[in-house]
Amino acid sequence: MGGLTAACGLLRAGHRVRVFEQSPDPGEFGAGLSIAPNAAAVLEQLGLRDRILGLSNLPQEGRVHDGRSGELLSTTPYGEAVREHFGDYYYQTPRSALYDLLAETIRAMDPDCIHTGHRVAGYTEHRDYVTLHFDEQPDQQAEVLIGADGLRSAIRGSMVGEVPARFTRYIAWRALIPMADLPEGYQAPCSNVWIGPQRNFVFYPLADNTLLNCAMFAGDSDWTEEGWRQRAEVAEIREAYRDFHPTVQTVIDALPADGCYKWALFDRDPLSRWHTPRVALLGDAAHPMLPFLGQGASMALEDAAELIYALDQHADPGEALSAYQAARLERANWVLMESRAAGERFASPNPSASLFSNDQAMQTGKLFGWRPPTLAKA
Ligand SMILES: Cc1cc2nc3c(=O)[nH]c(=O)nc-3n(C[C@H](O)[C@H](O)[C@H](O)COP(=O)(O)OP(=O)(O)OC[C@H]3O[C@@H](n4cnc5c(N)ncnc54)[C@H](O)[C@@H]3O)c2cc1C
Repeated sequence: MGGLTAACGLLRAGHRVRVFEQSPDPGEFGAGLSIAPNAAAVLEQLGLRDRILGLSNLPQEGRVHDGRSGELLSTTPYGEAVREHFGDYYYQTPRSALYDLLAETIRAMDPDCIHTGHRVAGYTEHRDYVTLHFDEQPDQQAEVLIGADGLRSAIRGSMVGEVPARFTRYIAWRALIPMADLPEGYQAPCSNVWIGPQRNFVFYPLADNTLLNCAMFAGDSDWTEEGWRQRAEVAEIREAYRDFHPTVQTVIDALPADGCYKWALFDRDPLSRWHTPRVALLGDAAHPMLPFLGQGASMALEDAAELIYALDQHADPGEALSAYQAARLERANWVLMESRAAGERFASPNPSASLFSNDQAMQTGKLFGWRPPTLAKA
């Protein structure tokens, strides 16, 4: 997400850009994505805000329930309340819709920009250029290299050395359920979180209410694989939430047998530097964070905006990358540590409702209130 967003903005600003993606067939993730106002502001700068509005659900309320008793613990106004406070809505969007929108916009500007099936192995930095090495394709040269290659970033490994990611013992399951398979009531424009000791179960409608997006998190897991295509059994989800309320059991009963996936959750310690004179990291490659604040992709979009701006403001790549890092490091590392702290509170025997409503952060405006710099268009 961060790499495509950066590519989109850099092309708009008149740069020549090449994106190398390891997957031969990226784009189908089968999951929803929360786009907070801070990330929506980046899409606005890229001229994509109205398109994403048309592809998204706008929850009117965030509801937190006790997972076992069903008691409603808190409600947080979203919808217009968030827009009035923070300038834009809180969007819930199929991940594939944002991916397709970015990829389409890039291809319209440069049909040869995105190269799939290119797995990066590392890079060599020279005084005036960078050489990018692939597993199977010939080397490529560039003036600047941006490593937006996620949690297991090969570029990060080349830059700061290979350090194993930190396994947190949390597991995430996810699934999309056709709304037609559920009884009335699940289409309500709400983001629902059902919490219990070391577990939560999140669901919200997507794609014009035709799908219910489910994301389920549990602690104390031994599962260590991560990736968007690791299959899970409905039975393991049923077992994890066996004591949850009938409203949640109805959702579990409707989970598609061949459409449940699982993901082991990792993060990394914050870096104090994520660039060299011609190479910089962006998004999860720079600051992979746990999903408990729903801000990982939003941080990647924020990074992209500051990178586009810095490369526009500074002709010298080293100065641009240094300005980019100065604009991003403290905030991204703060959100990384806040996401980790939220994970620790989540692991408690009595997780509190406010943890899942982002209340405190919304109050201070620190998460949602961020605004990108004004981005140039060539
Ligand atoms: C279950 C779950 C739910 C989440 N929900 C939300 C949410 O609601 N809102 C939110 O903001 N965030 C959410 N996140 C976090 C979010 O998904 C990530 O933070 C975000 O995708 C990071 O974007 P990125 O561009 O940095 O990396 P990625 O989206 O991971 O993209 C990295 C890309 O690099 C490619 N790549 C990797 N290695 C190589 C290589 N060697 N060569 C070439 N290509 C390579 C990958 O194939 C991938 O396409 C969630 C995460 C999880 C696990």
